Amino acid sequence: MSDRSNFCSACGQPVATVVPEGDNRPRSVCSACGTIHYVNPKLVVGSVPEYEGRILLCRRAIEPRKGFWTVPAGFMELGETLGEAALRETWEEALARVELGSLFSVVDVVHAGQVHVFFRARLLQPEFGAGAETLETRLFRPGEIPWEDLAFPSIRIALEQYLENGRSGNVEVRLQAAPRVRLGAAPQA
Ligand SMILES: [Zn+2]
Repeated sequence: MSDRSNFCSACGQPVATVVPEGDNRPRSVCSACGTIHYVNPKLVVGSVPEYEGRILLCRRAIEPRKGFWTVPAGFMELGETLGEAALRETWEEALARVELGSLFSVVDVVHAGQVHVFFRARLLQPEFGAGAETLETRLFRPGEIPWEDLAFPSIRIALEQYLENGRSGNVEVRLQAAPRVRLGAAPQA
């Protein structure tokens, strides 16, 4: 929730934190033009790309959690659909073209002001690489997934759900909440 500014994006004057009339929580309100700057949760969209029973993971080249493993995922952009965001992130981070499947996991990450959603995805060819924000990209069999070195709790939740769906045949979307955790330091390279 770092997108709070001390200045109004409409007129450049300082903002104050007050509860606007008729509202019930503090907002950033411009002292000059009165614009209320609402801050709302952000959507993070990811995919779990599979190829012949193996799952594609990326090792992060950027903070936070540099050096830890994730599925391709990132902030949704204006002007795109959830599916387009998942495809774009999969290309940008893993240089992989996938066939998107259904949405299967929604994770509330309340402490970060985010909602993370994950799609099933299928790699048509074992072709992938490391995008600008990725150190390396690899296919993992379920038994090889580096659970201790995953970047974020939501990634663990999504991967666990994905594998459980494979065993149980569940096709419904599951909504879960990410625990608040203190993230450790990145491993030494
Ligand atoms: Zn203003």
